[in-house]
Amino acid sequence: MAGRIPQSFIDDLISRSDIVEVINARVPLKRKGKEYTACCPFHNEKTPSFTVSENKQFYYCFGCHAKGNVIGFLMDYEHLSYIDAIESLAADQHMDVPHEDDAFANKNKEDKQPYYDVLKQASDLYQQQLKTSERAINYLKQRGLSGEIAKRFKIGYAPEGWDFLIRHLGKSPEKLKALNKTGLIVSKDNNKTYDRFRDRIIFPITDQRGRIIGFGGRILDQGEPKYLNSPENAVFHKGYELYGLYETKMALRKIDRIIVVEGYMDVVALAQNGINYAVASLGTATTTEQIQKTFRTTHEIIFCYDGDNAGKKAAWRALENTLTVIRDGMVAKFLFLPEKEDPDTMVRKEGKAAFEERVKNATTLSDFLFNTLKSESDTSTKEGKAQLANKANALLQKMHNSLFKDLLIEELSSLVGLSQQRLESKISAPVEHKRPAPKTVKPIRGQQVLINKTRIAIALLVQNPALASQHKVPESFKTAFKKGLPLLHTLQQTIESNTEMSSAALLERFRDTEYENALHAMSMLQTPETENTDNLLEEYKNIIDRLQIDDRDEYLTHKYESGEKLTPEEEKEFMELSTK
Ligand SMILES: [Zn+2]
Repeated sequence: MAGRIPQSFIDDLISRSDIVEVINARVPLKRKGKEYTACCPFHNEKTPSFTVSENKQFYYCFGCHAKGNVIGFLMDYEHLSYIDAIESLAADQHMDVPHEDDAFANKNKEDKQPYYDVLKQASDLYQQQLKTSERAINYLKQRGLSGEIAKRFKIGYAPEGWDFLIRHLGKSPEKLKALNKTGLIVSKDNNKTYDRFRDRIIFPITDQRGRIIGFGGRILDQGEPKYLNSPENAVFHKGYELYGLYETKMALRKIDRIIVVEGYMDVVALAQNGINYAVASLGTATTTEQIQKTFRTTHEIIFCYDGDNAGKKAAWRALENTLTVIRDGMVAKFLFLPEKEDPDTMVRKEGKAAFEERVKNATTLSDFLFNTLKSESDTSTKEGKAQLANKANALLQKMHNSLFKDLLIEELSSLVGLSQQRLESKISAPVEHKRPAPKTVKPIRGQQVLINKTRIAIALLVQNPALASQHKVPESFKTAFKKGLPLLHTLQQTIESNTEMSSAALLERFRDTEYENALHAMSMLQTPETENTDNLLEEYKNIIDRLQIDDRDEYLTHKYESGEKLTPEEEKEFMELSTK
């Protein structure tokens, strides 16, 4: 199990990441004064109320109150877990995520460079071997592949025999370890090792940076298995990678669409025929991560499958995964080829223009969705309609709010004869329970916020954590009578654990606590005090001092009013306080 990620690392990661950059890469932002805005990705709107603060490194939506820092944004926008959001940010910063548990930390710190090295060396050897094997060359020629395409995709040949790689690369214990760890060689129980890929055409799989992370091997003649992949290893995670994505990015400057196919040969054959925008998922089903990765490269995906049942099934899985990530502006289509055909055979048979015509006429996601549902239920009966509505609901529920989702609901509505409102109430997540309006409210850019001194003090401290070391919150706040003061004390202590802490990092410490929401609201609060940047410290000092007096006053008043006897000292203090 993964150990805890040290808080200091998360602080550091947040301070290195720029929320504007991270969000802008996914939701284009416009500068507006000190902040950035966009139409909110979390609710439907026509005028932007989604605000990103560069100074504070948070986002806040004045419409739906979505809020958070860079980690929270990734979690919500990309449906990532907390750990995955951190991993994703860390990868952008080229940082390795440490874990406090030693075993995991060691494993995680494992230097991956020897693996990349040995994979690259193996690929070079395989490419050399291809040049010397008449049989392999003939095979590729017979499939219509040119030397140029073979070179672009670094296609190689793993010769017959059991120890080609071992002999050439396994010259030290370290090298043997790297060969083993990357799955290039296989160890048997009896300590014998042999090459995994033997007498196969080799397709190197690259990551986003063009580093080789694994191989796919296809048999030349008859035999099983037809395709053999590298096993998952420290640098190769099947569900995350797409064969040909790097090559597509290298070939095209602007990628209007990407075709997702099943096999390496499909990608290569399409490229050979001038269709340079195909990628292959490295298993049968295309994962959510792969779809997200593709949508970061293009706005249109065409999933291409065999027209048989297995193909339809794989397409449906892709549809389900697409629904969870699709947003307005993204398009997904489904292309079903005639039975017994795959993109490789199809494009060789009919050429580029005809294949691209098929791509152009691919089935839209909505058609595929509703046609499939209709084929499964008898919509001439009420029972059938209810069944269809329930199935569709379950799918639509997973979607982000978008105009596209609204349109799907509209279509479903006319299909089953239920009102959109009725369907929406079933599909949409329950709306947050509205709290009764507080007594003193002040509208801040459309947002109603209760303003009082305690809140201003919290806002000042959250927005400017450096204040904690300039003017300490009194120790007495820890057990203060007045609401909110113990929280100020906790904030003070939290900041003292890392005085360099940014606002966003401070908020991160309160994730999943009872204070999370309140602190986020305070982080965006704008009052004359928070905007008075020249005299922040002065403002803060005054408020803290005042709060200390008020707290004492409230406490003594309460004691007095509840009939408890005040000590003579308290009585004196009480009188003095009321004149302050
Ligand atoms: Zn919103």
